Amino acid sequence: MKDIYLHNTLGNKKEVFIPQRNEDVTMYTCGPTVYNFAHIGNLRAYIFADVLRRTIESTGSRVTQIVNITDVGHLTSDSDTGDDKVEKMAKSQGKSASDITSFYTGAFLKDIQELNIEVAAEYPEHFPKATDYIQEQIDFIKELEEKEFTYKTSDGIYFDTSKFRGYGKLGNIDIEKLKEGARVEKNDEKKNPTDFALWKFSQPDEQRLQEWDSPWGTGFPGWHIECSVMSMEKLGNTIDIHTGGIDHIAIHHNNEIAQSESLTGKDFVKYWLHTDFVNVESGKMAKSGNNFITLETLKENGIHPLAYRYWLLTAHYRSPVSFSYEAVKGAQEAFNALLVHVWQHCVKETGTVIEEWIEDTKKFAYNDLDTPKIIAYIHSKLNTDKPENEARTILEIDNILGLGIKQLIKEYGNIPDTIRERAQKREQFRQEKKWAESDAIRDELKKEGYILMDGEPGTGALIYRPLSAHIFTPPKG
Ligand code: AMP
Ligand code: ZN
Repeated sequence: MKDIYLHNTLGNKKEVFIPQRNEDVTMYTCGPTVYNFAHIGNLRAYIFADVLRRTIESTGSRVTQIVNITDVGHLTSDSDTGDDKVEKMAKSQGKSASDITSFYTGAFLKDIQELNIEVAAEYPEHFPKATDYIQEQIDFIKELEEKEFTYKTSDGIYFDTSKFRGYGKLGNIDIEKLKEGARVEKNDEKKNPTDFALWKFSQPDEQRLQEWDSPWGTGFPGWHIECSVMSMEKLGNTIDIHTGGIDHIAIHHNNEIAQSESLTGKDFVKYWLHTDFVNVESGKMAKSGNNFITLETLKENGIHPLAYRYWLLTAHYRSPVSFSYEAVKGAQEAFNALLVHVWQHCVKETGTVIEEWIEDTKKFAYNDLDTPKIIAYIHSKLNTDKPENEARTILEIDNILGLGIKQLIKEYGNIPDTIRERAQKREQFRQEKKWAESDAIRDELKKEGYILMDGEPGTGALIYRPLSAHIFTPPKG
């Protein structure tokens, strides 16, 4: 097996990836908080995790991936204050919490399917919900309490971060700075500004939609505890990889480490990997902001979900990207050109894989997932070998990129008879040198989403439907 090198946020350097067991690599991906649609920034985190998974699988290892569904306890502020996001949305719409969470879980699943993210096929076992693990979270907190890592305040049970040596080791968090920042915050019954809630009490004047009995009184779990609990329940005390966006490093992931390692005395995660942001002109894309773009919005603007995936892969996952429709449309054109090439030369299925291309691709992928290099490489290599070999090889490379090329090209040649008949009619005009009539048909077909590629006169034109014609947006309402 070739070595894979990955940038580990823990230690902040590229390291060779050595899983605990080659045959079953364990990976946990912090999943969505299901109170709203995922925006295309959130989706980058899952596309990245998918490419990582595919890269590891390309060595022959199996990967078990868990993506949690946060359906309770994620407050609007990271400092354990503010409203529960799910409660807030449910109340504002006069709905139950489960109406909200099941609707947005469904929307999330549809998004990741459209983005050809492998784990989508593993629904629901690989998508544990926080509310299905309440007892396990209570038991976890009880054990931390027995080991004296916790204390009680008027609003909940907190983890005492001063008792965990090395708190903040992920991303080298500057604790002193955090403390300074906290001085201006009032509230605090917290012993240390970095302490965080494990269990929050329902307040007497509060009518919560989701709450549970616990040894400490009625309430609900804090946000961080679910990830430690579900990771250990599903994958074991120590896992190989944990992924998320960079905004999770400072607080969420350091808290996961503190509570997990305090409980087990073992490493919680061997390799921490984080994706950078998708930004828009006004800054970071955020669910609470008005710069919120969903996959559905992209489709309404003529962008295929897989063209969005392609665009993201033209940047390294550790670089921020600036979203604009022009940029993604440009990427869609380039992707379409690649698809046409593969589609055109895959018809006979006679090609053989060009080993050199596969070797080179793996070299890039195994160097911390250098997808921009892979994409540039493919384009630079086109028309250097037999086109049917190239087509076959690109399909093989796509096992890592996950652009769904095989499926897409099936659609490319899926042309109704009525359209073929009109193309034949045009061919007849061409042979009769009736150019105006022939052009008129070609232009009409183009408007309807069919492109004619003229071959030798008399052989007829190849007809395909370009990427933009495959976007299906269900009617609203
Ligand atoms: P959430 O549903 O808010 O819990 O976030 C889901 C995932 O999206 C997390 O891994 C976040 O770190 C990530 N994320 C949030 N905002 C962005 C953004 N603008 N760009 C990229 N990833 C993001
Ligand atoms: Zn998490």
